Amino acid sequence: MKRVLITGAAGFLGSHLCDRFLKEGFHVIGMDNFLTGSADNIEHLFPNKNFEFYHHDVTKFVHVPGDLDYILHFASPASPIDYLQMPIQTLKVGSLGPYNLLGLARVKNARFVIASTSEIYGDPNVHPQPESYWGNVNPIGPRGVYDEAKRFQEAITMAYHTFHGVNTGIVRIFNTYGPRMRLDDGRALPAFMSQALRGEDITVFGDGSQTRSFCYVDDLVDGIFKLTMSDYHDPVNIGNPQEITIKEFAEEIVELIETNSKVVYQPLPKDDPKQRRPDISRAKEVLGWEPKVQRSEGLKITLEYFKEKVNPKVGV
Ligand code: NAD
Ligand code: UDP
Repeated sequence: MKRVLITGAAGFLGSHLCDRFLKEGFHVIGMDNFLTGSADNIEHLFPNKNFEFYHHDVTKFVHVPGDLDYILHFASPASPIDYLQMPIQTLKVGSLGPYNLLGLARVKNARFVIASTSEIYGDPNVHPQPESYWGNVNPIGPRGVYDEAKRFQEAITMAYHTFHGVNTGIVRIFNTYGPRMRLDDGRALPAFMSQALRGEDITVFGDGSQTRSFCYVDDLVDGIFKLTMSDYHDPVNIGNPQEITIKEFAEEIVELIETNSKVVYQPLPKDDPKQRRPDISRAKEVLGWEPKVQRSEGLKITLEYFKEKVNPKVGV
């Protein structure tokens, strides 16, 4: 049985990755310090004999007994309000985290896959963004702690590949949504859905003309699984190229939830990227991957999760 270590296992993406690798017949070792994650996301896995959990901060030395075939480093605050509140933890988990885990990958002879992000493109001057674009990041702006940590992660991952021959992969993840996002994580989808479900105003930042391209979590996890199983080393964008303005996205959610909430406009946060859409030609060519879930379908599934979180059934 192949063994995989997944950091950030109690988070949104990490917990879905644990599910997928268990389904594929792996022994999964999840690691998390619950900085932004929750045991609720993985408690269904505790009875599974192929799942182990380590409560550990990956910025400290990481020791895992036994063989490891794969290491996926997904631990990091990921929502803008999280990394603005925790700038130092974000920089540490993006720098000391990969440093510790690449060392572990080297001694275990494991393939190492790092969760990078579309944020490494910053406020992009090239649209859509191919992997060859180097980005437009403000290193000392509020988002710099996340963006630069992720850029460092890519650099150290490539260095361990080039100088130590570690088998590595880099996935550049674009905005992803689905069940297990935190209701109060401040990202657009949880904010809009929880506001609409409570009948509150929907807070669109700026004039809402900025764009994002939202990928359903199952599609993303499928792309990451395929990249992990490959021996590809250069960065690969994984995301859904269906682009939408944030204003239209808010309106779509209001329509889906059939609420009387109205859209209100608040100041745009500093350095908020104006546009974002992945060029996924490389993922198609190298991994034979492309997203399958339409936004209308993904939003319905996600809504069921958020309904339960906003109005939990009691006494059931
Ligand atoms: P999340 O906040 O839900 O999960 C992150 C997990 O990492 C949490 O469970 C948290 O407790 C854990 N963690 C943080 N610091 C840690 C540390 N020092 N030691 C151990 N565990 C630690 O975020 P997510 O949305 O699941 O994102 C997961 C990864 O994917 C992150 O690396 C993020 O940068 C990347 N990513 C996510 C998106 C997205 O749209 N969700 C987009 C681009 C990149
Ligand atoms: N956004 C918004 N209202 C909110 C939360 C976010 O208008 O309550 C906007 C935000 O300014 C950005 C877009 O939605 O332009 C996506 O934000 P999110 O935090 O989800 O992701 P990111 O900015 O990291 O792409």
